[in-house]
Amino acid sequence: MKNKLFYKTKNKIKNKIKNKTIAILLVFILLATPVILSGCGSATSAASSTNSDGAATTVTIGYLPITHALPVFEEKELLDSENSGVKIKLQKFSTWTDLMDALDAGKIDGASVLIELAMSAKSKGIDLKAVALGHKNGNVLVASNAVKDGADLKGRTIAIPSTQSSHNILVNEALEKAGLTTGDVTIKELSPTEMPSSLASGAIDAYCVAEPFGAASVAKGYGHVLYESKDLWQDSVCCAFVLGGSFIEKNKDAADTIVKKYNEAGSKLDAATAESVAEKYLSQPSDVLQESLQWISFDDLTITREAYKDLTSRVVQYGISPNPPSYDDFVYSAN
Ligand code: ZN
Repeated sequence: MKNKLFYKTKNKIKNKIKNKTIAILLVFILLATPVILSGCGSATSAASSTNSDGAATTVTIGYLPITHALPVFEEKELLDSENSGVKIKLQKFSTWTDLMDALDAGKIDGASVLIELAMSAKSKGIDLKAVALGHKNGNVLVASNAVKDGADLKGRTIAIPSTQSSHNILVNEALEKAGLTTGDVTIKELSPTEMPSSLASGAIDAYCVAEPFGAASVAKGYGHVLYESKDLWQDSVCCAFVLGGSFIEKNKDAADTIVKKYNEAGSKLDAATAESVAEKYLSQPSDVLQESLQWISFDDLTITREAYKDLTSRVVQYGISPNPPSYDDFVYSAN
């Protein structure tokens, strides 16, 4: 009897210890799970983040301070005001080279960038997708007051920001319209911010570049508009909104929200909204922005097969790239 009671009590104590051990193990597993999961958390890129409490996904977008990037600024305004589950963090760059390096290295999730630079990166194996246009038209060929007309460009020096640009295409179109070829002029690459002062000093005779650097010379009287882009190439394409391919794969819902909201932002950029957004995000005088914004359109930023075919044929024709990426490889449409 004594023995039975002894063993009963012993088993009770044993079970208590067992239950306590299970409870401690459970607490440990619960505490350790977030640490283990975050250690394996390579599903999102370095630049984007989703908080475990359901807070917003932050998407980092690179840009240069130009009117061609206005839809990105307007999209940020919309997302911030709507308290959306997706937020944009803007990252400013001074040169296209620095922006492309950051995009190639995955330091930013996407960018507003010259479409030819993105096409060239894609051809070199960089995983990029173009999701929308930056704008339509919106460029001018500005010439010094000494250059009277297109034919007068003969023997002159014309600056462009990069050979991989629609500015290069537009200069080629302007020369063709004037009965000239690239052999009749000197074309040089120059940083956009240097162009107005170079025109004023006589170091160059004309230039074509992202806005508002063309308008800056017109507003100050250094030069005049020789051609608007719409007169050289109707509905011309120039910048694109691009996202990293792996970012889209790993953040499909956030990517689709970003693309849809970007297109909505473009449709909201009427003259008054564009001017107020430009004044908020670009350090440029009002008269320069007003001059510039009359040349640009943001109403439908879809990259159509037709527009892309037109672009690639010009890219090949003017020797910008012999083998641009196909529409299906390069262009992404949100579901
Ligand atoms: Zn552009």
